[in-house]
Amino acid sequence: MAIDKMKKVPVHEQEPEIRAHNFNEVRQGYSKEEAQLEAQRCLNCKVPKCKEGCPNQNNIPEFIAKLKEGDVEGAYRKLAERTSLPGVCGRVCDQPHQCEGKCVRGIKGEPVAIGMLERFVADAAAAEGYDALEKAPSNGRRVAVVGSGPAGLACAYKLALDGCDVTIFEAQHEAGGVLRYGIPEYRLPKETVVEHEVRNVTRVGVKIVTDCPIGKEHTIDDLFVQGFEAVFLGVGAWSPKHMGIPGEDAEGVYTSDKFLSIFLSGDVSEPEGLELKKHVENKDIVVVGGGNVAMDVARTAVRLGARVQVVYRRSEAELPARSDEIAHAKEEGVVFNLLTNPVAVVKDLKGGVCCVELVKMALGEPDESGRRRPREIKGSNFLMKCDAIVMALGTGVDPNIAEATKGLEIDKSNRIIVKNEDGLTSRPGVYAGGDDVTGPLTVVHAMGAGRRSAAAILEYLKSKKA
Ligand SMILES: Cc1cc2nc3c(=O)[nH]c(=O)nc-3n(C[C@H](O)[C@H](O)[C@H](O)COP(=O)(O)OP(=O)(O)OC[C@H]3O[C@@H](n4cnc5c(N)ncnc54)[C@H](O)[C@@H]3O)c2cc1C
Repeated sequence: MAIDKMKKVPVHEQEPEIRAHNFNEVRQGYSKEEAQLEAQRCLNCKVPKCKEGCPNQNNIPEFIAKLKEGDVEGAYRKLAERTSLPGVCGRVCDQPHQCEGKCVRGIKGEPVAIGMLERFVADAAAAEGYDALEKAPSNGRRVAVVGSGPAGLACAYKLALDGCDVTIFEAQHEAGGVLRYGIPEYRLPKETVVEHEVRNVTRVGVKIVTDCPIGKEHTIDDLFVQGFEAVFLGVGAWSPKHMGIPGEDAEGVYTSDKFLSIFLSGDVSEPEGLELKKHVENKDIVVVGGGNVAMDVARTAVRLGARVQVVYRRSEAELPARSDEIAHAKEEGVVFNLLTNPVAVVKDLKGGVCCVELVKMALGEPDESGRRRPREIKGSNFLMKCDAIVMALGTGVDPNIAEATKGLEIDKSNRIIVKNEDGLTSRPGVYAGGDDVTGPLTVVHAMGAGRRSAAAILEYLKSKKA
């Protein structure tokens, strides 16, 4: 295959008219030949900017160098030194604003396709069954991790590799956090990628206890009483936001987390799932919001046979979702109503959704976020007929975790206050990181935080007698 050094080796994608009817992955991975060709584009810079651009500081040039030599297992082992989730990150990280955004190749041409290379190595490791990394000898120290999302998994993985005895306590039935219950299958396969990479963590000895929320019933104090010497909190930000408009309590109004998790928890045959299917299949759905989560909801609804309209109060230029996600949604038939905002949900006689009342918006002066502030155009109200509405307005941190934890300081948005980059909270021996500290951010930011806390916990344990 000939190679244009200025361009990435192209990726194959399912055609929009086909993928709109299935949940298979949209983007296909590289073959070994394609991956090796793409790896040849890496300049192996003396000061690797790509690594600086990765919030988890993955060994990017090192793994690509191994791949260039054709040593796929070696490439995997280089990645595994810092991450247990290469298949996840290779698929869902925002590479244009992270590693690839810093790649020197990107100055004059396209950056190296670091994400696709990472994905190739991870998939090869899963297919070939490469061994887990060697662990340090046991140091006998016990650490509890609360939450099994990317932050908790990254923290537990590093602690276990360094010899600690680690148990993750997870509220849900399955481990993985948003990877398991948020990001749709067509972007992130559950069985072959998420479950496999959660197993990467158990393969280095981490125990995972599911269906076990830490909060009022089992508290952080209980964990210390049970003999854990340090605790990491990676409980994410799952509390949905509401618009507070009339009629929002109608049957058929969903929050994005509820909508996505019902399908991803595999219980569509349960009453809740059947109810949701009834509102979606061959129906008109309005999705409120313009972020990545709104795109995930819209594209999931399309695949379930709905006609989907996105409603967003600012203009196209301010849409917070990634441009490739917006393009994919449009190709799959999602219609965008920009500069439009809901003011009420109109109910039918049975209390279900009948339509949504919208108002046209105009943009004024920039607000504190730097984006132009939307304001209503008086008298521009109109009705849009729909069968269900999904509010994708963002999420916040659940206040219960702090309420149930003596001495843990939180801010007014319920985010856990940490004293430094290591995630030390106001309570000695308790660390926190990921969305519960920053508010909703990204997978790799959560992983970086979990890893930094693990390093700090190791130092804390050393300074404290066993
Ligand atoms: C729909 C959606 C799509 C996204 N897409 C992307 C993307 O493409 N790329 C990207 O980088 N980021 C994406 N994100 C953001 C990313 O998933 C999050 O930033 C990341 O998962 C945060 O990791 P975390 O470990 O902090 O929290 P989470 O992933 O939220 O995990 C927290 C875990 O803690 C558990 N938990 C909560 N409370 C308790 C308790 N009391 N006791 C025990 N366990 C508890 C939860 O059940 C959960 O398993 C997306 C988010 C959503 C919602």
